[in-house]
Parts: sequence; C-alpha cells; structure tokens
Amino acid sequence: MKKHAIIPIFIPHKGCPNDCVFCNQRKITARTEDVTPQDARRIIDTWLTTLRPAGSKTASETAVRDYSAETVEASFYGGSFTGLDIEEQSTYLAVAYEYKKKGLIDKIHLSTRPDYIDREILDNLRKYSVDTIELGVQSFDDEVLRLSNRGHSSEDVYKAVKLLKEYGFEFGIQLMIGLPGDSLGSCIMSARKTAELEPSLARLYPTIVLDDTRLFEMYESGEYKALSREEAILRTKEMYKILDGAGITIMRVGLKSTDIIGEGGAINGGTYHPAFRQLVEGEIAKERIEPQLTEIISDCSDACKSAGAADSTKVKVTIASNSRWYSNMIGHKACNRRYFEASYPQISFSWKTDDSLPDGRFSLMLR
Ligand code: SF4
Repeated sequence: MKKHAIIPIFIPHKGCPNDCVFCNQRKITARTEDVTPQDARRIIDTWLTTLRPAGSKTASETAVRDYSAETVEASFYGGSFTGLDIEEQSTYLAVAYEYKKKGLIDKIHLSTRPDYIDREILDNLRKYSVDTIELGVQSFDDEVLRLSNRGHSSEDVYKAVKLLKEYGFEFGIQLMIGLPGDSLGSCIMSARKTAELEPSLARLYPTIVLDDTRLFEMYESGEYKALSREEAILRTKEMYKILDGAGITIMRVGLKSTDIIGEGGAINGGTYHPAFRQLVEGEIAKERIEPQLTEIISDCSDACKSAGAADSTKVKVTIASNSRWYSNMIGHKACNRRYFEASYPQISFSWKTDDSLPDGRFSLMLR
C-alpha cells in the first residue's frame, strides 16, 4: 500500500500580486479559469475515488476508508494561498475541513510566501485544522531575493517560522537553485539556514527558464546565464546532503514536467530533466561508493592493481544498497555502473539489494 497520497488543488496566481522573475503564474492565470471551492470539492472527490478499489462508492457517499494509501492529504498550491482574502481562503479551507472532519482525508497542506504569514492568517488556518504550511523561501541570500524580485527578505522567513513554531504548525521550506546572483556558496548557506530552522520537509527546485517570464528576457539578453545541468546537479547535491543529514524529508528534487509543460510553459536552458532527483541521488551514490572502492584497491595485491588484470585475477566486488536506492546506485541510464567499470578495470563488479541498509548508504564486499 502506498504510504501517502496527495490531492493537489491548484489555485493559480490569484492570491499573489507579486512578479518573481522566474514565475509564469500570472500568464497562466490569464489563460485559466478560476478554481472555485466547488471545483476543489470535485477534485477531492475524483482523487478519493481513484484511491478506492474499483466499484467502491464515491468519496462523498461513504466515510469508510478503503484507500490504497495510508494517509491522504489535500494540498492547496500555486500562487500564494494566504495572500487571498481571509474570506476566500475560508471558502476553500471549509471544503477540505469538511472532508477531514468526516475522516475522508487526514491532512490539509498549503503553500505560501513567508511575508504572507501573520497571526490573523494563522488563527484562521488553525480554525480550519490546517496541518502543514510550506514557505516558498527560495534563498536566504537577500541579494538573490532582490535580483529575483521576490519582494521579501530572509528576515521575513525568520519571522514567519517563529510564528509557525509558536502556533505548532508543521512547516516546509522550498529552495531554488540558480536564481540570479546565486552561487554554490549561497546555495549551501541557504541549505544550512534551512536546516537550522528545522522544518519537517523541504523541496529543492533548480531554476528553469520559462517563456513569458522576466527571467526569459534576462536570459535572452545575456543578463542571466542559466546553470549548466552539471552545475545544477552539483549545487543541489550539496544542499541535499545538508538537509538529508539534518533529518529533513526532501519531498521533491526538481520540477515535474506537468508543473511546467502542462501549464503551457516552454523550457529554455538545460536545468530541466525529468529524472533530476535520480541524477542528484546518483551523484551522491557515486561520491559515497568511490572512497570505499579506492580503499579496496589499496588493500589488494599488486597484480590486482594493474589496469590490465586478466579476468581470473580481477578483484570481485559486490556493491549493495537498499531497493529504494538501487537505481541511484546504478545511476541514471546505468551511468554509475559504466563509470565504475571504466575507471576500475581491475575489478569485476556485481550489484545487489540489501534492505537492511538505510537510504543513501552502500556496502562493498569482496567476493
Ligand atoms: S510569489 Fe509565487 S506565485 Fe507569486 S510571483 Fe512569486 S513565485 Fe509566482
């Protein structure tokens, strides 16, 4: 059974009067119909039906839980939810709350900006039993925020998090990689600051240059240089390690194609990849496996160290990860396997799963 199902309810730019350089929500909103609370109800019903076995009653007909997921969460995202008028927020929240009270969903989740958090807003969210609030922080570097026209500072993040903690909300932090003025150093700094704030979850999004954005104009004029894929992977990897090491659940690494293409945006620059998370986790796997391999080589006989070792004299090494990390260990399109085979011709590799290993850890054994 799936552990967790998220019902996404996309509320376009409506709540957001800002114009961040990378965001095309305003253009999307101009092309899309408003999502009404009735639409939110329909979306929840449809998703709950898909989570039930075929032939089961519809979501609103029964409160019996027979889902194919242990927990179900309704999630309002897009725009900045708490930028809507309180009354309007309440009309959406009332729908989700009704399902939660009936036990049909477990959690209510929303995303917003750090400067759209205050006591009046949080009192209202608490009234509707909201569980998790994600903050689009993007960077803790004020110059990056300024150049990206975010319209808030890192100080707003600290204030928002202080209030969220005081109210006892679970919270998450979204960070972007490669915004104007960004660097490896500021990405690492942002990940460290995030870890210090102890959110329960985080998302890492490499910047993607979409049509119909100010960033696209900056890219076209040469004012903004998109990250290369390698640099995007490197920065994200360093941030991932800091957040993961702090025990923060990294919900997402990279945008989904439907986040971009489904909304009509064309992608420019090379940072989008449908398997971006695997590229990052694969690099982490490679980085963690290689020192252990080097150690094995340094311990083996001179004959084994020779790159031209005959098959019979090759060192036989089995590398294991748990099943969740197996494809990361092998790498996207087997790039790690090919890399190790080419770099260590004196070794005969085999790969296996060992579910006693934690995520992101590998064991190497001589056969
Ligand atoms: S705050 Fe969010 S929705 Fe608003 S312009 Fe910026 S990225 Fe887009």
